[in-house]
Amino acid sequence: MTVYDLHCHSTASDGVLSPRALVERARDMGVAVLALTDHDEVRGLDEAAEAAHGAGMRLIAGVEISVTWRTHTVHVVGLDVDPAHPRLLAGLAANRGGRAERARRIADELARMGIAGALEGAYAYAGNHDLIGRTHFARFLVERGVVKDVKTVFKKFLVKGKPGYVAHAWATLGEALGWIDAAGGVAVLAHPGRYAFGPARMRQLLEEFRALGGIGIEVVTGSHTAEQVPVYADLAAEFGLLASVGSDFHAPGEGGRELGRLARLPAHCRPVWHAWT
Ligand code: AMP
Ligand code: MN
Ligand code: MN
Ligand code: MN
Repeated sequence: MTVYDLHCHSTASDGVLSPRALVERARDMGVAVLALTDHDEVRGLDEAAEAAHGAGMRLIAGVEISVTWRTHTVHVVGLDVDPAHPRLLAGLAANRGGRAERARRIADELARMGIAGALEGAYAYAGNHDLIGRTHFARFLVERGVVKDVKTVFKKFLVKGKPGYVAHAWATLGEALGWIDAAGGVAVLAHPGRYAFGPARMRQLLEEFRALGGIGIEVVTGSHTAEQVPVYADLAAEFGLLASVGSDFHAPGEGGRELGRLARLPAHCRPVWHAWT
């Protein structure tokens, strides 16, 4: 059985492994087809592709785009994109552009809470300074002993209503899907079960996503519980969307899902890799 893992992060965004180390770990975990999907960034893909070639694996060029949809942040994964497409590159650069100012504001908020040095502390964890994000702040807060682990940070800090939260406008859904389409990729809604939408709001998102050219949703992801998998498998079928599978791996020992350690897609799902094989 071919093991697919179509969502993970390297030091090009908020993962802790270099693209090469990530690919080698995926190989050790038995992954045959891996998509590297860094946040708003494709700069890790060359190294990942070279490493995958050496490891006898297939590397799918991917990216995870941050989107603001009706005041909510949602993530859209682009799979099998041309990572050199100018429209994709320009869009991603624009999406990255706001991160430095947002990071300053996060650090200011934390300073008001009595937590000094957060900006420098977060950047120390960023392998790519253009891609400073909340995970880097989370690692700093754990290092400082403010919170016991990264998972807990995202309950007590950096999220709506908690210290260190800063609202931010990312790309629109239409923009993100336009960039992926221009780059010849397949657009997949990432970890839908994480958005805390009721069924009506979720259906509106899926309706709009599909109308704008979205092709698939993540059904099996490190973010879904075993109970959520059939819920999103049924929604994929209802909306005629393909089903994707990805760990969303960021770092060993940080509490997230390991590379390739994923349940099988429910039998009635149409796998997203049918879109490119
Ligand atoms: P950003 O793009 O800077 O807003 O950061 C988003 C990232 O924060 C996600 O990709 C995750 O890596 C991390 N994150 C968000 N929520 C959680 C959570 N509940 N647990 C662990 N990591 C989270
Ligand atoms: Mn992340
Ligand atoms: Mn995500
Ligand atoms: Mn991710």
